[in-house]
Amino acid sequence: MRLLLTTSQGIEDLAKAEVENLLSRLGVPFRVEEKPLGVEGRVLAEVREAFYTDEKGRKRELSVSTYLNERSRLLHRVIVEIASERFEGIGEEEPERALKRIEDFVASLPVERYVKVSESFAVRSFRKGEHQITSVDISKTVGKAIFDRLERFGTPKVNLDHPTVIFRAELVGDVFFLGIDTTGDSSLHKRPWRVYDHPAHLKASIANAMIELAELDGGSVLDPMCGSGTILIELALRGYEGRIIGIEKYKKHLKGAKMNALAAGVLDRIEFIHGDATKLSQYLESVDFAISNLPYGLKIGRKSAIPELYMKFFSELSKVLEKRGVFLTTEKNAIENALEENGFKVVHHRLIGHGGLMVHCYVIE
Ligand code: SAM
Repeated sequence: MRLLLTTSQGIEDLAKAEVENLLSRLGVPFRVEEKPLGVEGRVLAEVREAFYTDEKGRKRELSVSTYLNERSRLLHRVIVEIASERFEGIGEEEPERALKRIEDFVASLPVERYVKVSESFAVRSFRKGEHQITSVDISKTVGKAIFDRLERFGTPKVNLDHPTVIFRAELVGDVFFLGIDTTGDSSLHKRPWRVYDHPAHLKASIANAMIELAELDGGSVLDPMCGSGTILIELALRGYEGRIIGIEKYKKHLKGAKMNALAAGVLDRIEFIHGDATKLSQYLESVDFAISNLPYGLKIGRKSAIPELYMKFFSELSKVLEKRGVFLTTEKNAIENALEENGFKVVHHRLIGHGGLMVHCYVIE
């Protein structure tokens, strides 16, 4: 079985490591590849069927997709691959010709193996890159090809709102992919604990990528501008045993972070402080790690205030940080000036796709 796994652009290596770790516990042969066919934000896992023995000693199949949906912290979707194909030049093609190629390809696939005619289905599409067709065109075309093929076996049922089976069709650049989406309509990064929706909240998958990059050792962890608490809550849910501390300037967000932590069942694991990160040393003498998605001045606050905010914050951080920090921002110049001015060394930098932007991620010491 081949599983197409989706995640944020720029964290594929970390998602691959997580999937390898999870699959290695199943004791079946597997192979995991980052960016299959060069597609960003994707990881491909080839896995043999996995089995377990039930209480009566019977051999039972274990659903690897369910296992990954339940256990992964970095993935967005788990999709069982039906087929993938490179369509050279599809980006420049007239809509009719491009859609005909997709339709012919899908019509040749044994989709009846994945959906019973008695089950309802829908097609959800994703498109990225330069094309003369839209994702709506793709959904309609793929849906028609599947319907026509299933008609050989009975009367197919389409249910766009609540389908039993979701086909996922993706066209990324010139790579077309069709699979069964085992995750459903809500991406895994939308955590059920999020009862308070902060206007600039971080995707939980990226929060976990930042936690991985911090290489924590059990020491205390601070998010100095914690918003709705995503990083801290995800860290607590991983069973982290060190101190977990969050500071937030606005009462409304701090209250929201506490509500989220309560919903996640980890409120007693996090020390929340109502305070100002530019006065950090007033609240803490020292902290081992700091992980934060800094304000960018886009959704809340003013962009012009960012350089001064970063300068004051990193000056305070330099008084208390013992080990490592991981920070996310779009404001490259402001953070790099503040880091240099306050004696921090950048040990790792990467770009991560978040909310339609490529955001800079810095690991500092
Ligand atoms: N990671 C958070 C989440 O997932 O909800 C979002 C963080 S948001 C990008 C930045 C947060 O920093 C905002 O909630 C903002 O109120 C807070 N903030 C801005 N200036 C601050 C300061 N001086 N001290 C503490 N928090 C501050």
